[in-house]
Amino acid sequence: MTLKPTKSREKPQPLLVRAKITKVKFPERCPVCLGEPEDLVSITVMESSHFDPSDDSSISSWGDGKDKVETTLAAAQGAATFWVPTCGIHGSRSLRSAPKRFVAWAAFFVLFYPGLYFALGIVNALHNPRPLLEPLLGLVVTASLLIVLAFWGYFPRAIERTLRIVRIDRHEDAVYMDIRNKEYGKLFLELNAAQADIVDKKGQPKPADKVQR
Ligand SMILES: [Zn+2]
Repeated sequence: MTLKPTKSREKPQPLLVRAKITKVKFPERCPVCLGEPEDLVSITVMESSHFDPSDDSSISSWGDGKDKVETTLAAAQGAATFWVPTCGIHGSRSLRSAPKRFVAWAAFFVLFYPGLYFALGIVNALHNPRPLLEPLLGLVVTASLLIVLAFWGYFPRAIERTLRIVRIDRHEDAVYMDIRNKEYGKLFLELNAAQADIVDKKGQPKPADKVQR
């Protein structure tokens, strides 16, 4: 079976799918590039009462699954953890994990004072005959560093944008997800054909004649 990677330029169409929490299986392909599986990442989802695919406030968090305590704690609070095979590039190394977020957050405090120092230097240079270039360069460098770190720590990675879990309902044994990669969506539906279906924006199953597989 040959699979062409989906073109990244193509505007991704959401595909809302419902599957059973206890039976869901993820294809042995990377959700982003459909590459061979080389890594396994975890996605932990908190149970939430509403279904709103457009709501981007994340109820899920990705991880490399190494933090067993965190996974166990989350499970005790009603969360479910799913394991998704990925390629080496889009796997656990690429995730914005808690330590990365912490580094980005800590960097803000570390860089805040140099930034302030350079900003005051600029103000000082504007009012007094002092060189302006030095504090200006300093401020630009500090600000750029902060922006890069903020992106690195907080910007959703390709995998998080491609495969998004919208909601879980333990009572119904249902997990709702938004799959942005059409090919991966097809593979997913094939693999889970017995228990997964396509749903509309309200989480209701689509009538069979409208389902395009
Ligand atoms: Zn990949």
